[in-house]
Amino acid sequence: MCGIVGVWNARKAAELTVVGLHANQHRAIDYVGIVTTDGYNLFRERGPGLARQVFTDKMLNALHGKAAIGHIRYPTVDNDPKDVRDNIQPIMGVYRGSQFAVAHNGNITNGEEVAKHLQGVRLATTMDSEWIVRLLEKYASGDVEADIITVAKLLKGSFSLLFLFRDRMIALVDPSGCRPLSWGKNGDEGIYVSSETCAFPNLNAVHVGDIEPGTMHVWAAGGHRVEHYARAHPKHCRFEGIYYSHPSSRVFDENISRFRVALGKALEELYPVPGADLVTPVPDSSNFIAMGYASSGRSGEYYPVITRNHYVGRSFIAAKHLNRSDIVAQKFNFTANEIVGKSIVVIDDSIVRSTTLPIIVEKLREMGAREVHVRIGCPPIKYPCKYGVDIRSRDELVAAKYTEEEIRELTGATTLKYMMLDRLRSLSQKPNSFCYACMDGKYWD
Ligand code: SF4
Repeated sequence: MCGIVGVWNARKAAELTVVGLHANQHRAIDYVGIVTTDGYNLFRERGPGLARQVFTDKMLNALHGKAAIGHIRYPTVDNDPKDVRDNIQPIMGVYRGSQFAVAHNGNITNGEEVAKHLQGVRLATTMDSEWIVRLLEKYASGDVEADIITVAKLLKGSFSLLFLFRDRMIALVDPSGCRPLSWGKNGDEGIYVSSETCAFPNLNAVHVGDIEPGTMHVWAAGGHRVEHYARAHPKHCRFEGIYYSHPSSRVFDENISRFRVALGKALEELYPVPGADLVTPVPDSSNFIAMGYASSGRSGEYYPVITRNHYVGRSFIAAKHLNRSDIVAQKFNFTANEIVGKSIVVIDDSIVRSTTLPIIVEKLREMGAREVHVRIGCPPIKYPCKYGVDIRSRDELVAAKYTEEEIRELTGATTLKYMMLDRLRSLSQKPNSFCYACMDGKYWD
C-alpha cells in the first residue's frame, strides 16, 4: 500500500506535503519522497523511513517552490532489496525536454501488454509505476493532458496518480477507483490532494471532493479543469474500510469510523456471545468494530483489555532474537486485573496469515480468561490481492488452507466466527461498486 499527497499554489509546499504524508503514514512506513517545482525546475528529496524523520530542515530547504507531490511506500511488487533508493517515488521523467514527476498508488496488472509498448526502453527501477513515466515519455506529442489519458487507457488494474510538471499538477484515478484519492482546499489558495481525507484538517483545508473513477483533474495557472476520460466501473477496495483507511477519513462516500461501527453491529447480530463479560479490540484498526459489536449490550461491554504500546520502534519489533510471542508482548499491553475469570470477546478486523491472534488468545488464557471468543470483521481472505495490497500468495493465507473450525483450533479460541460476505455487502448502499476479490476470488480487470 502507498499514500500520495499533492500541494498546489501554497507557500512552503514541501513542508505541507510532509504534513499530508504524515497524516497518511498508517498506509506505508518504509520509504518517502517529495518532488517540488518553482515553475522552472523540479527538485527531489527521498529516503527510507517516516516522513517526519526523513525530511530534515536541510532537505526541506532544498525543495523550492509552491507546488509539490509526495509519496509514501510499502513495496507490493518487487522483493528486490538491492537498489531500494531507485524505487522510492515520486519517479522522475522527461517530457519533450522538460522534467516531470509521478506518484502512484495501486498496482498495474497488464504488465505483459505494457512491456510490448516499452520494448527497448531501459527501466531504472523494478516498479510498475515506472511504466507510466516511460510510456508518457514515449508517447509525448506535445499535448500533455491528452498524452496522459492515452497512457491511462493502456493500463489495467488500479492506479491513483499524481503528476507534477513545471506548470501544472494533475490527479488521475483509473475507472475502477480501487484506491482512494480526494482533494481539498484552504480558502481561495492552496489546493491539496491526498489519498485520504484525514490529511485535510491538519493542512487547515476542507475536503471538497474525490477524484472520481475515470476522471482527471488539472490545476494550472488557468485554473482547475476536470475531464472524465473513461467510463467508470467502480470497484473500490472493501479492505480500505475494514482495515487500511484511517478512522477519521471519509473514503468512497463512507465515514470510516461509522462504517466500522456498523460492521461491528452486524457481526454481533450474526454471532452474539450472550453473557460475555467484555469486548476488546485488537488495537488499533479494530477499535470501532469492537464498539459496534458491544453496542447492543448483550455480548459484553466495550472494555479494551489489550492496548497498544505506541513507543515500540520498528527495529526493536523486528529484532531477530525475539520470537513471535515476544513481539506481541512488546506491541501490546494486557490489563491483567480485568482478564482473570472473564468471558472475553476479542474483535479483530481480519485474519491474513494468523501470526498474532493465536498468541493473543494464548496470552489471555495464561492471564486467567475463562473463555476467549474471537469475532473477525472481514470474511475469510482466501485469495491474493492484485490491486496493491500486500496479500500476495495463496500459500500464506490461512483461510485458503483451513476451515473456520480448524482456524478456531489453531488460534485456541473458545469460538471463532468470521463476518459473512453477504452481510458485509449489505452494509454498502452500492455493494457492486466494491471489490471483494480477496474474499470471493472475483477479479474484475
Ligand atoms: Fe482490496 Fe481485497 Fe480487492 Fe485487494 S482484493 S483491492 S485488498 S478488496
